[in-house]
Parts: sequence; C-alpha cells; structure tokens
Amino acid sequence: MIPFNQALPYETISRDIYVRECPFCSAENILLPLRKDELPEIHDGKKKLLVFPCCQNKTKLIDADADYLLTDRPLVRRK
Ligand SMILES: [Zn+2]
Repeated sequence: MIPFNQALPYETISRDIYVRECPFCSAENILLPLRKDELPEIHDGKKKLLVFPCCQNKTKLIDADADYLLTDRPLVRRK
C-alpha cells in the first residue's frame, strides 16, 4: 500500500505524463519531464529525479504503477 502523501496521481497523453496539480505550488496541468516509457524502469527500481517545471521543486521517484508515481519522501505543499 502506497502512503497517500507520497503518491502522486498522474495522467498520460500519448507518451507524455501530466499531473493535474503540482503538489508543491498548486499549478495545474503540469507536463512532467518524464516519458511513459520510463515508468516500467522506475517500477523495476531505477530511481528518477523529477524536477517540476512550474516551480523547480525536486522529488525522487522510487516506484510507479498505473495510476500513481511514488516519491521517496512525503510531498509537502509549500506556498
Ligand atoms: Zn510546481
């Protein structure tokens, strides 16, 4: 079971990955610098540093499933 505050729901359009809302700055419909092809590699244990293009906050991805990206630490909203 993924801890809720470390799970980031995502959506895909073609090979692109979007989040509906940035967990750090609340910007909407953010295109992540991540391709759908990379999700199986992350699921297999390859760690990926994710930098949000909206606010440059960084988080490390440690797992991914069909609906969520899992980060290595709780996502804390900063205003
Ligand atoms: Zn942001």
